[in-house]
Amino acid sequence: MGACARLCYRENTNLAQATMDFDSFFSKRLDALHAEGRYRVFADLERRCGRFPRALDHRIGAEVTVWCSNDYLGMGQHPVVLAAIEAEMRRTGAGAGGTRNISGTSHAHVLLERELAELHGREAALVFTSGFVANDAALSTLASAIPGMIVLSDAMNHASMIAGIRNSRAERHIFRHSDPAHLAELLEGMPRERPKLVCFESVYSMDGDIAPLAEMCDVADRFGAMTYLDEVHAVGLYGEHGGGISERDGVSHRLTVIQGTLAKAFGTIGGYVAGSALMVDFLRGHAPGFIFTSSLPPMLAAGALAAVRHLRESQAERTAHQERVAAVKRRLGEAGLPVMPSTSHIVPVLVGDAGLCRMASDLLLRNHNIYVQPINYPTVPRGTERLRVTPTPLHSDDDIAALVAGFSDVWELLQMRRAAP
Ligand SMILES: *Cc1c(COP(=O)(O)O)cnc(C)c1O
Repeated sequence: MGACARLCYRENTNLAQATMDFDSFFSKRLDALHAEGRYRVFADLERRCGRFPRALDHRIGAEVTVWCSNDYLGMGQHPVVLAAIEAEMRRTGAGAGGTRNISGTSHAHVLLERELAELHGREAALVFTSGFVANDAALSTLASAIPGMIVLSDAMNHASMIAGIRNSRAERHIFRHSDPAHLAELLEGMPRERPKLVCFESVYSMDGDIAPLAEMCDVADRFGAMTYLDEVHAVGLYGEHGGGISERDGVSHRLTVIQGTLAKAFGTIGGYVAGSALMVDFLRGHAPGFIFTSSLPPMLAAGALAAVRHLRESQAERTAHQERVAAVKRRLGEAGLPVMPSTSHIVPVLVGDAGLCRMASDLLLRNHNIYVQPINYPTVPRGTERLRVTPTPLHSDDDIAALVAGFSDVWELLQMRRAAP
């Protein structure tokens, strides 16, 4: 070996010692997740079109009943939606072909945005590739572009809203969850002339509680603040036409921004905001998360459009949904299972421990062919780990009976805490 080779070898050795061992970092952090019982294990499902809420679970090689889907009404398999997607796919092909600005705006996008604006009784709407992207793009743009903006954010807001607010780098304050009085107190102490943006959700998807929208708007109005409402878990499900809690409560016109998803009750994919023509036009021209990404495939925009149209007219799905939800809450409660109080379609059942929560979910799957994903920290606070049950209009009486029997059995087996009698 020559001098140079030796030198290079030594230098490489030093380099290896001085730099970080990335694999060992990843491995340590993964070990920590395992130790805390919150390592994420994904299901391996194949949804069975036409057999909703059934899916083949490849982990156990059997058909299971899905009890934790956000396809709340089964619209992801509704014949009207499938027909619209198929027809648009045959007409226009697979992808969008570009960003909205460069060749990626299809007629389906235009129609969808018109429909969403009408759904919320607002002048305009803007579609994004997901609800997460809509929140991140809209909030980061509004809060960074308006000089001196102060953001007030509900303590339980979703990660996508937090991401948007963080990315704006605007001054931000957290108010106590769904507490208009605390919001008012914070606003009281802020300089009157600074612009403010109040961000909250309607249905909070982990506890299933519903925010007092009118009171929140009253407080925001008193201080001249903008309002931003995430209706992701309410659109399609509440209100005479599926316009969400803001429609149900008659406050759609009072919100600066109504944000929603096309991926939950509407069964497809995509997110949007609705509001004044000026606000929407402003975001269209300024939000990087809208501008610099390829648009939704037109076939999916057409599928979402069909779902929105159907649910604006039809009450059958919403009525059946609420009836099934009430039945599940009642039956689980009667069996002494710790159903957390919820005023919406979400039925959280408290476990209170990450490891037990995972075990309960595993036992439900393996012994009862019931799939309910455990919900652990950081999605919910530690000590409030839960199984989050989402009934749909397509869960039968037999499905509900099997659910209650499965839960009772697993609670018995793991000796878990039941509800106070
Ligand atoms: C799921 C969710 C989102 C994100 O919507 P996607 O369309 O799934 O990206 C935004 N906000 C809340 C409250 C959510 O639960």
